[in-house]
Amino acid sequence: MVPKVVFGQGSFDQLQSILSPERKSKSPFIFLVDDVFIGNNELIDRINLRFNDKLIFVSADEEPKTIQVDQIVKDIKAEFTYRPSGIVGIGGGSILDLSKAVSIMLTNKGSASDYQGWDLVKNKALYHVGVPTISGTGAEVSRTTVLTGPVKKLGINSDFTPFDQVILDPDLTKGVPRNQWFYTGMDCFIHCVESLNGTFLNAFSQSYGEKAYDLCKEIFLDSSLSEEESRAKLMMASWHGGMSIAYSQVGVAHAMSYGLSYVLGTKHGIGNCIVFNHLEEFYKDDVILFKEMVAKHNIDIPQGLCKNLTQQQMDTMIDIALSLVPLWENAIGDNWETVITREKLASMYRKM
Ligand code: NAD
Ligand code: ZN
Repeated sequence: MVPKVVFGQGSFDQLQSILSPERKSKSPFIFLVDDVFIGNNELIDRINLRFNDKLIFVSADEEPKTIQVDQIVKDIKAEFTYRPSGIVGIGGGSILDLSKAVSIMLTNKGSASDYQGWDLVKNKALYHVGVPTISGTGAEVSRTTVLTGPVKKLGINSDFTPFDQVILDPDLTKGVPRNQWFYTGMDCFIHCVESLNGTFLNAFSQSYGEKAYDLCKEIFLDSSLSEEESRAKLMMASWHGGMSIAYSQVGVAHAMSYGLSYVLGTKHGIGNCIVFNHLEEFYKDDVILFKEMVAKHNIDIPQGLCKNLTQQQMDTMIDIALSLVPLWENAIGDNWETVITREKLASMYRKM
């Protein structure tokens, strides 16, 4: 679990006082910041770089890759004689995941791709802080960092992955474009649905999942909330949704969305929406609710992505989806392989 968290409008201003006890002499803090904030001097000034701290802008146009993590780690090692005091990630799920992975790879040998899987990390990661600027993924609280590697899209799941500190300041999510707000918000809704309907469910996951699910219904279906309330509630829904899946698992939408993402580069939030839109068979009532939310906010969910896939692309998509065994075990149960065949997946993908 994340051991320390602050919450509240304006709490981002506590950043330097939080970092100060962790600062080692001659060792910089490295700030990995979403490049959407280039030119946003108000935010950059509030970071308040000190000594030899370094700010690196990173694009979130593509989801993080293992080679990208390896390159950032190589550059940091080449530039600084001393190991940094810590890594601070400021951005959405992409930048938060990248920051977690970089902090792991600064204390572990080899390539980030060596650690994609469950509990493969040997050494404690460098001190790392997460500051989300868009809500929904739960990446700020989870024990995984999802990376696309040379052969798979899979997280580094480990006890060393979670942030040492998180700063939850709902004001930082103010500029998020409407469609993106919805797609990433629905990631949270889908986390809850998949956790609450899964065979791995337990009282711990359920308590967080139900809270986040109710918050999502309030945020996306109740018009009486002010924007400020809605931002704060979505930030907490994201947190609780992340806590829920940390102690259970995700399901069908995520398994299939990983396939889409690997082959077509479809991003996580929108990919989940594209898949979930067609999952009545597995999550009937929640797909109805999802469609209500889509209609209420007049959101565009792309269709027909897989119509013209080559056989080879379809095969890869299915391979990636099938490789996510724990997700299927959670969604369907031990006999999942009798239900989720290659033909079944192909027919589902063709509808999307
Ligand atoms: P993102 O980080 O990819 O960002 C989406 C877009 O929103 C980007 O264009 C970004 O620049 C922009 N953006 C972010 N904050 C903004 C702001 N305040 N104002 C304006 N624009 C802003 O989006 P995401 O949906 O948060 O993250 C997706 C990533 O999260 C994927 O890589 C996915 O694999 C990962 N993920 C991780 C976990 C986990 O537990 N580690 C869980 C779910 C998803
Ligand atoms: Zn997700």
